[in-house]
Amino acid sequence: MNPASHRLPGAAVIREVGLRDGLQSIATILPTEHKREWIRAAHAAGQREIEVGSFVPARLLPQLADTAELVAFAKTLPGLFVSVLVPNLRGAESALTAQADLMIVPLSASHAHSLANLRKTPDDVVAEVAKIRAARDAAGSKTLIEGGVGTAFGCTLQGDVDKREVLRLMQALLDAGADRVSLADTVGYADPAMVRELFEEALQIAGDRFWCGHFHDTRGLGLANVYAALEVGVARFDACLAGIGGCPHAPGASGNVSTEDLAYMLGSMGIATGIDIAQLLALRARVADWLKGETLHGALWQAGLPKTFPVSSSAALAA
Ligand SMILES: [Zn+2]
Repeated sequence: MNPASHRLPGAAVIREVGLRDGLQSIATILPTEHKREWIRAAHAAGQREIEVGSFVPARLLPQLADTAELVAFAKTLPGLFVSVLVPNLRGAESALTAQADLMIVPLSASHAHSLANLRKTPDDVVAEVAKIRAARDAAGSKTLIEGGVGTAFGCTLQGDVDKREVLRLMQALLDAGADRVSLADTVGYADPAMVRELFEEALQIAGDRFWCGHFHDTRGLGLANVYAALEVGVARFDACLAGIGGCPHAPGASGNVSTEDLAYMLGSMGIATGIDIAQLLALRARVADWLKGETLHGALWQAGLPKTFPVSSSAALAA
């Protein structure tokens, strides 16, 4: 065992974002009943954090128009921590009304991407987070606020994104009242050395308020980037079942790391996730059936688990 392995976390959380990041980027509109089945089965397989949708106007994202209904359903499942994405104060008010456990406010560190995606500068988004915090506190709500800094490693529109700007915006989000912050490689520009360097500095700024790593597998480095983040102590990652998705404002981007491949890698390394991978693969097959014609990703589903895979690490916490 190399020295770095001793520092790896003993457990990690995979936050399922397929119902938001995945579905928002593909043409198929999944019926609400199928989304409910997805959430129910993911929970049964041991997933305990799911981003169920986004509070954006239905005319912009008809795929996610049923978010309030899905939050209400997801909250009936015991122990499930329910997240939603909110682009602004109006979306945050919906999240507060729905009593989501956490709302993620996306900020793009790339000014070009921010203007294209949100029609705001990054600092406008920081100001919006301050308003969201004030609204949350005024409502006496327990909904946590996560500031998610995207295009943290570069951007298809702007190219370079300065690391100092990423870290400045992360600090600004915390100062504005975000309870948590996270970093996203929205377009798949990161490599493990970049992840190690940026995440180490981010952890120095945010400590245990640093919440999550979000890696797109655009160039096949998603899992390697997760490993680099694990080595500096990050233990929560976003992932999409079957690796679906992309980013509508970052041309060429494909989906997040696939949930099942990530669960397999972590389980194989002895890092507990609480996920029963056999159940997850069965769910993947159903979702693939619902999304016929869409491009799916991932490797594990083709080969299955190796005979040597320890069953105990697959289902350890699911029981
Ligand atoms: Zn994403």
